[in-house]
Amino acid sequence: MEVGFLGLGIMGKAMSMNLLKNGFKVTVWNRTLSKCDEVVAHGASVGETPAEVVKKCNITIAILSDPAAALSVVFDKDGVLDQICSGKGYIDMSTVDPETSCKISEAIALKGGHFLEAPVSGSKQPAETGQLVILAAGDKALYEEAVPAFDVLGKKSYFLGPVGNGAKMKLVVNMVMGSVMNAFSEGLTLAERSGLNPHSLLDVLDLGGIANPMFRGKGPEMLKDNYSPAFPLKHQQKDMRLALALGDQHAVSMPVAAAANEAFKKARSMGLGDLDFQLFTRP
Ligand code: NAP
Repeated sequence: MEVGFLGLGIMGKAMSMNLLKNGFKVTVWNRTLSKCDEVVAHGASVGETPAEVVKKCNITIAILSDPAAALSVVFDKDGVLDQICSGKGYIDMSTVDPETSCKISEAIALKGGHFLEAPVSGSKQPAETGQLVILAAGDKALYEEAVPAFDVLGKKSYFLGPVGNGAKMKLVVNMVMGSVMNAFSEGLTLAERSGLNPHSLLDVLDLGGIANPMFRGKGPEMLKDNYSPAFPLKHQQKDMRLALALGDQHAVSMPVAAAANEAFKKARSMGLGDLDFQLFTRP
């Protein structure tokens, strides 16, 4: 199977490498073209523009930072819309709001193309090991066509119905995760500042009812002051912002998420946006 791949950030690089490892032919594009070099060294071809990739491949996947990036790659000059047509599919795996997804879906449908949104749950390591959870919605036939690729990229994929449902599911999941990360960071700080051994706190948490892989995986790294990004904080704050907007639309009061968003915004204002989304910082 031949696929196009747009966006070789933390997630896109790992996912495209995984497709290559599993026998897919992959043609990649990234805004900063030099970031294609490593994937090309592993057998990928490169396209000069998103349009060139779509022209070459029947299915093109994208995973880009935010709504502005997702729209730009589709609507700008030499973008996806230039070449999408009947028989071609476009799968956007970026985390965006439902409105962005719907706008892309409508424009692609007007050209006769097929669209699926398919944001992912899971971070850098699951992307490297094909253990993502794929939250797809939109064109069911394209979903079925893409299942062989989803089986490589993820441990489970869901088809959630009409476009927008994948985006909403992803935003709810990350709203919960961002709120939990705030509480976890505050707990580690409180343990340390009040004279407890924070490693003991990790042990105690891991034995109780709120044990989870995020505490288990991130906790020891946080205590080593390792902020190298698996999930950049600026993307987590974007997800909180988009989830809060969804809450506004549906009149859902979310004071915990709103407070978590403020903490992430503050961290961004302190220049921490490109680091991992943890908020545990030592003075
Ligand atoms: P990243 O490392 O920051 O990569 C962002 C990608 O978007 C890069 O390829 C970047 O290109 C591209 N981009 C940004 N602005 C652009 C624009 N205006 N036009 C074209 N391309 C643009 O981000 P990531 O961690 O891979 O995340 C990608 C998406 O997946 C985000 O929506 C994020 O929320 C979501 N996600 C991330 C994780 C995670 O753990 N990292 C997990 C689940 C979902 P350049 O290289 O040129 O800057």
